Amino acid sequence: MTSDVEITVVGGSLAGLTLALACAARGMPVRVLEQSKGHVLGGDSLTVDLSLLRAMTGHDPRLPPALPVVPAYRDLTTWPALYSWLQARVNETPTITLEGERRVLSVTDLGEGVEITFEDGKKQITPVVLGADGYRSVVRRAIAPDHPYARYAGYLVWRGLVEERTLKRPVPWPSDGGLWIEIIDGYRLVAATLPGRDGSLVPGHRQITFAWFDVHQEQLLRRTGCLTLDGHIVGSLARGMIDESVRLDLASRARAIWPELWLEAVLTGISSPETLSGAPIAEYKPEQLVRGNLAILGDAAHVISPMTGRGLLTGMEDASTLAQLLASRNPKGSFASVLSSYEQARLPFIQGLVNHSMRISAEYRRRAGG
Ligand SMILES: Cc1cc2nc3c(=O)[nH]c(=O)nc-3n(C[C@H](O)[C@H](O)[C@H](O)COP(=O)(O)OP(=O)(O)OC[C@H]3O[C@@H](n4cnc5c(N)ncnc54)[C@H](O)[C@@H]3O)c2cc1C
Repeated sequence: MTSDVEITVVGGSLAGLTLALACAARGMPVRVLEQSKGHVLGGDSLTVDLSLLRAMTGHDPRLPPALPVVPAYRDLTTWPALYSWLQARVNETPTITLEGERRVLSVTDLGEGVEITFEDGKKQITPVVLGADGYRSVVRRAIAPDHPYARYAGYLVWRGLVEERTLKRPVPWPSDGGLWIEIIDGYRLVAATLPGRDGSLVPGHRQITFAWFDVHQEQLLRRTGCLTLDGHIVGSLARGMIDESVRLDLASRARAIWPELWLEAVLTGISSPETLSGAPIAEYKPEQLVRGNLAILGDAAHVISPMTGRGLLTGMEDASTLAQLLASRNPKGSFASVLSSYEQARLPFIQGLVNHSMRISAEYRRRAGG
């Protein structure tokens, strides 16, 4: 049973937009509050579960306008392609309101509802708030004020997404080759060929993604204010922020360790400040997902290493569980009891997954000597 009560989602990226579509598909109106203007910069390659996406959103990503994927052992897509696909489905759904440039400063559970305070000082009361606002979530701060931040996992990942046509020759790696993964001298490289911006899988027209894991950048993260003295992650080295001296160091190391197969793509990604980003890997194990009429999902709820390949999938599973429970709510029943069922359903699995991520990170640090 559903009602006309509007669901408020903070954060309009992959988890937030998926949740909005899943709620709308089950008859619930949704308002998404997103701090950025509409285009959010995200990662590069992503494994995606097309069947889950269809079951949740009611839109089949295999049908036109199809989501471009590389069919490897799991379907691989690019972050921008998935974001654009979700955003287009949201824009054509009249029961979803997507508000860009709406930065939420704080949320407070009032028992009978939630007070949202915006950056411009305006306030609004709403029945329920679901935080899909990422690894530095403001909704999480209200749910777990004593445990608000994710901790540094001891390494960062340099990432780039390169147009294959800008290289001297196509990368000799098949479109269905899946991920290439190698550790050399303690550095780990994950690389793959991905569909081009037009969805093409033809060599020469694809995109090349790389993720280069590096345990030696703690000083850089501290100097740039991404890492606090007590080991919490509060920032990221976004595109455009990485100094030439850092990129020259990386290029010289790349020439020493990475094989010809990926070297030109990696050097091309490093050469421009606009294609290279550096994300410190953070981990967050939640003790709770809910407080009253507030709940968190996606990276707001659990931060894990990309080496698990599970961050997005887990966020989608959170969204699926939440939407189904909200849809079964008795219109006269409270949101708090539905959210409490969500926490019971998801928390044990999520805590186990973060433990798994921490074990993978510890093993990588040990092998890398960090
Ligand atoms: C290199 C790399 C590879 C990865 N590969 C995979 C993979 O193969 N498979 C997989 O499943 N996962 C993968 N992941 C993880 C996956 O990318 C993330 O788990 C996922 O993108 C998180 O999405 P999200 O919507 O929860 O959070 P985010 O993408 O962080 O989005 C949060 C949104 O909230 C908005 N926001 C934040 N604060 C506010 C505020 N105060 N007010 C309003 N809006 C706000 C932000 O602008 C943003 O749009 C990978 C991650 C990395 C780094």
